[in-house]
Amino acid sequence: MVGSVGNGLMDLGEKVEPLPEEFDPKEIVEPLPTESNGVGGEEGSGKRREIVLGRNVHTMCFTIKEPDADDEETGEREAYMASVLARYRKSLIERTKHHLGYPYNLDFDYGALAQLQHFSINNLGDPFIESNYGVHSRQFEVGVLDWFARLWELEKNEYWGYITNCGTEGNLHGILVGREVFPDGILYASRESHYSVFKAARMYRMECIKVGTLVSGEIDCADFGAKLLQNKDKPAIINVNIGTTVKGAVDDLDLVIKTLEDSGFRDRFYIHCDGALFGLMMPFVKRAPKVTFKKPIGSVSVSGHKFVGCPMPCGVQILRLNHVNALSRNVEYLASRDATIMGSRNGHAPIFLWYTLNRKGYRGFQKEVQKCLRNAHYLKDRLKEAGIGAMLNELSSTVVFERPRDEEFVRRWQLACQGSIAHVVVMPSVSIEKLDSFLNELVEKRATWYGDGKGRPQCIASDIGDENCLCGFHKN
Ligand SMILES: *Cc1c(COP(=O)(O)O)cnc(C)c1O
Repeated sequence: MVGSVGNGLMDLGEKVEPLPEEFDPKEIVEPLPTESNGVGGEEGSGKRREIVLGRNVHTMCFTIKEPDADDEETGEREAYMASVLARYRKSLIERTKHHLGYPYNLDFDYGALAQLQHFSINNLGDPFIESNYGVHSRQFEVGVLDWFARLWELEKNEYWGYITNCGTEGNLHGILVGREVFPDGILYASRESHYSVFKAARMYRMECIKVGTLVSGEIDCADFGAKLLQNKDKPAIINVNIGTTVKGAVDDLDLVIKTLEDSGFRDRFYIHCDGALFGLMMPFVKRAPKVTFKKPIGSVSVSGHKFVGCPMPCGVQILRLNHVNALSRNVEYLASRDATIMGSRNGHAPIFLWYTLNRKGYRGFQKEVQKCLRNAHYLKDRLKEAGIGAMLNELSSTVVFERPRDEEFVRRWQLACQGSIAHVVVMPSVSIEKLDSFLNELVEKRATWYGDGKGRPQCIASDIGDENCLCGFHKN
């Protein structure tokens, strides 16, 4: 993958195309477009990092140069490419070391699978119906799907699913199935749902109602119930978060179901569970609400490259077999059935997932989940000891705290920020040593930001609750 790397941290000593003279980022900052149907567009995202629209900003890229006639003899081209790749690799190692903000497990070893790089493995079509294209990995895909169906308690002959390209594709699929089951259904999603949910609403032109959230980030079922009662004439399609992106909040699935039933929606609802983040962690957390098809849910999706860890984005989608028929079409050209969002599908991804599931199994994941939760508590406690307000939801490994004042620091640790808060998602690749090094640096930097009465950290009580905020006002 040659292209814009965009982190601006590499200097290959190459000439970079100068920007056009009239270029001034501040002049072309525009507000994000607001959707006419009231869907999407996160409120309150801070203005500090400017999002530039309407112009491709090439921070730095590896230009493609046409080979010279004598390149083959001199070997210059090969040497040039090798040096670019070597430096790129070095920067990846450095960037991997300082990564805390995204929920990716960067710790894995798939060396044994290098031998498969020479094959164009593609699982286009239905995982359960072999197509005419023989270079596929359905054997692995179905094995992985069986494992997940068992995890979420759906019988082999009652489930359907596939390995997706990412958690977003799972959401696009789950919500589409819901829409096909209830064509006039209204989509309900908490305002802290992932942006892909609102994207689905726009793509499918669905009516979408945003539901309020509690301080923890969980869906507010009182608000949900009130909104259901205003729309009793239409079925409900609900996105339930098994871990929200920013605060790692887990929606109370049982309370969502109860709210639906109490509001008179018995048999007129479809629940999609967005487990992109914690879908694979929840089963191993004591006291966590159980995600299971024994409850009236329609589909669950999870990202494969987050907690599991995988060199390419991927995900898993599991749903009820009887629902997929609402979606699928036969395709003569493939000699298979089309019920997925994408056409060609990455046939390598299922093998990576298969490999990790075999290696770690339930027990391995359980251990890793416990380690993540332990380390997340460690981070939260140490932040608070240092006088930094922080929140950690009970079932989560996402630690939320004040947005560091310095963008350079944010970039260095690749923290994800929203408004006045930032978070660290503690994944298996985040060790105590890494957290210590981050904490020490943060405490040191804060002394320069706020020392000698130079100013005060912002109050973030409205984001993390009065009891967690340690600003001047809430400290006591
Ligand atoms: C990451 C995430 C997604 C999207 O997953 P991708 O694999 O990045 O497409 C969806 N929902 C939640 C809650 C997430 O955290």
